[in-house]
Amino acid sequence: MSEEQKHDLPENKESDQAPSSAQESSPAGNGSSLVLHIPEGVRYNCQGCGRCCSGWSVGMSQEDYDRIKHVDWQSLHPALQGRELFMHREAEYKAGLAGHPHYTKPREDGSCPFLIDKLCFIHGYLGEDQKPVTCRLFPYSFVETPSGVYTGVVYNSMAAAKNQGNLLTDQVQALEEALELTKKYARALNKTEAAMEVKDAPKELDGAKVAQQDQTPFQTVDLTLGLTVPWAEFLEVDKKLMDLVLNRTDLSIFQILPAGSEILQKAIKLKRAGQPLSELQNFDPIVPPDSDMTPGSTEEMTLRSMFYRFFLYPLIRVDEKGLWQMQRRNILNPANLFTVVRSFTRYSFSAVNTILFKTGTIPNAGRINLEAAGKKKFEPLTPELEAYFRRWLYLRLFAKTYFGPAAAGFGVVSGYNCLMASIICVMLYAKASAILRKENKLNIEDIYEAYWRLDRELLTMGQNSKQENVAYNFAFATPRLFHKVLFELEQSLKA
Ligand code: SF4
Repeated sequence: MSEEQKHDLPENKESDQAPSSAQESSPAGNGSSLVLHIPEGVRYNCQGCGRCCSGWSVGMSQEDYDRIKHVDWQSLHPALQGRELFMHREAEYKAGLAGHPHYTKPREDGSCPFLIDKLCFIHGYLGEDQKPVTCRLFPYSFVETPSGVYTGVVYNSMAAAKNQGNLLTDQVQALEEALELTKKYARALNKTEAAMEVKDAPKELDGAKVAQQDQTPFQTVDLTLGLTVPWAEFLEVDKKLMDLVLNRTDLSIFQILPAGSEILQKAIKLKRAGQPLSELQNFDPIVPPDSDMTPGSTEEMTLRSMFYRFFLYPLIRVDEKGLWQMQRRNILNPANLFTVVRSFTRYSFSAVNTILFKTGTIPNAGRINLEAAGKKKFEPLTPELEAYFRRWLYLRLFAKTYFGPAAAGFGVVSGYNCLMASIICVMLYAKASAILRKENKLNIEDIYEAYWRLDRELLTMGQNSKQENVAYNFAFATPRLFHKVLFELEQSLKA
């Protein structure tokens, strides 16, 4: 079966039936023949909570900045008075060290300086279409591939995390307009339209050069380190993964995740044996657990380093914004020595505490031993939570944002392992939050919060240094990397 068939995702308020196919549209009048693929059962409209406008500096193109800079903002509202509103990174941008030439300068609490009473002051004063394009496009993702453009939303928007608003499939025209704006903006920043990442030249495939004139990203896909396939062959893998997530309603999320890994392993074996990946469609990916499913320390530490990266590192990043707002060349200036040493000391201590000593901090809740939290017996996942995790996995796989240029250059296996680690970390975050409140079942509000935090970090991974992403790609390329940790978590959530 394909992704065009029935699947069981939550909160499809249009009907009680399982929502079905991904919808396709051919954007008209935009000069592109690419099909726009839209996921089913996924909702989004801004609910005006203002949370998207906190926790980062909004990047702006020169055009964005020129549109906004002429207004004497400080004179218009007491909240803007005397405040520095922008940061400039033109030199770094020209040198390829920053994604944008200009940024908004967040307040001390990390919120955007233009966010007043949960509303965007630029929107209110100049109009929605005058806001920075990054804000207008958020939380959509559009990934261009040889088989069309795949739409997604990130859960760093609370409305997206809660699946609030109209179905994306009912908003085709708005999505087509957003796609056009994405393309225009990517061109303005001299990037590709594949999540606006820098375009890599297509790889050589079996010794033959891929046609250089075809500039569509994803001509080839790295299944894993050193194993590249053409997009058409990747689609066989994609079809099998989608079938698993959408149609195997007999399986729990704890069975679906390792089954996905088995599909990828099988694809690698087939490819290495010179067999067609179409044979995947007859493969049964369900495997019984090994006799020893005790996680090893490397597996546990890798998982905790992800927990640190998703939930703790960003807290320090907000606290230590002096370091982040500093231009790179100023880091070596002796006048900044104190800030640099203090920030790096905080990063190191918190990382060592979490990764080696297993102590994590849950924002606004407290500190907890993550190993003990993971093992603590809890009530089983409710059908609502099962469906929630399944929808997030479906959306990520569908949107093609977990590998390739849209995901820091990860191979498919590494990207998939990162998705698995994400779900485990979200469950661990929700468990830890519940334990700190002296509860013993997962709470959907904690899960919204965890995804809101985690998806922002996944989104910004593309801004890591190339070396950092190569290291992550390498570390995550191990087959079945998180199976035992996942199994242990499943045991803790069994009746
Ligand atoms: S510019 Fe407006 S929409 Fe963008 S982050 Fe700031 S307040 Fe939010």
